[in-house]
Amino acid sequence: MNNFRDSDAAQEKFVKYYKKYRNSPMKVLLGFYTGQYHKFLISCFFYLIKHSPALFSPLLIANVINGVLAGGETAKRAILVNAGIWLALLAIHLPANYLYAMYRSRVTRGTEAGLRSALVRKLQELSIPYHTRMQSGRLQSKIIRDVEAIETLSSQLFNNVLNIVMNLFITIGITAVKNRLILVFFVLVAPVASLTVIAFRRRIGKVNRDFRLEMEETSARVMEMVEMVPVTRAHALEEVENERMARQLQATAEKGYRLDILQSNFGAAGWVVFQVFQAFCLIFTGFMALKGRILVGDITFYQTSFTTVVNQFTALINLLPLITKGLESVTSVGEVLSSDDVEQNEGKEVLPDLKGAFEFKNVRYAYPGTEGHVLDDINLTIPEGETIAVVGESGSGKTTMMNLLIGFMEPDRGQILVDGKDMKSIDLKSYRRFLSVVPQMPLLFTGTLRDNIAYGMENATDEEIMAAAKAANLGSMIEKLPNGLDTMLEEHGANLSGGQRQRIAIARAVIRNPKMIILDEATSALDVVSEKEIQNALERLVKDRTTFVVAHRLSTIKNADRIVVLEHGRIVEAGTYEELMEKQGVFYHMESLQMSTVKNNKA
Ligand code: ADP
Repeated sequence: MNNFRDSDAAQEKFVKYYKKYRNSPMKVLLGFYTGQYHKFLISCFFYLIKHSPALFSPLLIANVINGVLAGGETAKRAILVNAGIWLALLAIHLPANYLYAMYRSRVTRGTEAGLRSALVRKLQELSIPYHTRMQSGRLQSKIIRDVEAIETLSSQLFNNVLNIVMNLFITIGITAVKNRLILVFFVLVAPVASLTVIAFRRRIGKVNRDFRLEMEETSARVMEMVEMVPVTRAHALEEVENERMARQLQATAEKGYRLDILQSNFGAAGWVVFQVFQAFCLIFTGFMALKGRILVGDITFYQTSFTTVVNQFTALINLLPLITKGLESVTSVGEVLSSDDVEQNEGKEVLPDLKGAFEFKNVRYAYPGTEGHVLDDINLTIPEGETIAVVGESGSGKTTMMNLLIGFMEPDRGQILVDGKDMKSIDLKSYRRFLSVVPQMPLLFTGTLRDNIAYGMENATDEEIMAAAKAANLGSMIEKLPNGLDTMLEEHGANLSGGQRQRIAIARAVIRNPKMIILDEATSALDVVSEKEIQNALERLVKDRTTFVVAHRLSTIKNADRIVVLEHGRIVEAGTYEELMEKQGVFYHMESLQMSTVKNNKA
């Protein structure tokens, strides 16, 4: 359907012009459309044809009046010929309109889709730290709102601006041929008239914005109120809420009233100003006709032409804010598309398999733009199949260590070896095929239980999915569900318990049959039954696979082959549970504290 089906091509082209004309978004946009201009021109051509009845009718009417005033045969001929032309122009309006819309929409909609998929693709490539820096809302707004603004800008630019120019050109052209003096009048008076009209509209614009902001505030408050209903009800605070909303609604109503009155006054005033200018035009052309410098019928022609010229100027000036907004969006999209913060995997060694032996060698890491190292001097050798529990206070660097292992970031100094190879030299995509990550807060999406378990494993059979579910202790739950694996999950799995969500995440890990597992245990307390079920599931999952656990629960820590204790980004202790307890160091104190809390809670 269009040239931009291929999102790579769209991205490449956009980035090329963005890098070339970074400070001139208009050039970026025009560059982006190179190769498509002819479609806009064709679309404009059909617009001209479709619009011709409106463009030429004043002239045709004037011709008829002049003909009738002349009388006799001329009159008859003038009526028939001009009406005939008018009907003929009307006959081609519908087909021309179709072709106009088709050409225009093809280019702009195609571009819109192309830009969006280019952005989506880019987001999938951008590094995890980039995503952490940019809030997801901002990126979402780029994909939806900025692209829409660019699409609007493009249609405005290529169609409306060209159409405005064309309208002006034809109207002024005919006037120039018919009478130069009137042309001078138009050129001097029309811009003044349109500026005056706009000055009035601007005023309305401001009040309108105030009202819109108030409306947005109201809808935010309503949202908040609805979310708060259970709390409000529980505390019998309905009247307080009603009163608060009533005040907000009253304020909105007052702003709305002001807007209505002002809109009406300024609208009327603007209209009167415009009509006054038209009256001047009528006086001017009337006297011209009286003096015999123009034909009587031409008065209507000039009158309509004047209106057209003023309207076109007004439209052009009104387009300016839209254009500014669209150009801002071009820059905003360009920033993302041209970002170099992506993972470089090309040309690196592809791992055909993973055994699961790891080694940290003098690893140091600091988040960009922050002071001090989050991890330093990390030295650790992990043979394949071992389970390592990483413990430490909040902020000690556990998550950062896991993110380095996934390859989200690279160490600033030192190396991480995977099966003896430096992680910097391997294709991380190939490495991650052998990884399963079970996050602290499992991320589920709207879809069936089956889709959520088999995420990314399209070819998994029902048996495999069920086996993974059973391994994750989900078997009896699924059997109880009327729709089994086809049960729909609500957004983020809202219709599930915390324990169930975690077990789905575990099933998702199991089905990948990974060689290495990263497990971030949930800190939140679970009931004894859920805890036990998850524990069993985890034991099955980690068996014979290299596993890194950010551990909070005693059971996981006890079962680990080795425990690594982090403090301020350094390994302060490492060993088995028994060894560390015997040593009576940092770990011993942490454990004693935790155990006494557990006992107190149970008591
Ligand atoms: P833990 O998982 O042990 O709680 P983290 O690895 O999350 O610790 O964090 C270690 C330190 O790094 C903390 O001081 C935290 O504030 C800092 N940190 C974590 N993420 C970022 C980030 N994206 N940018 C800057 N500092 C960060």
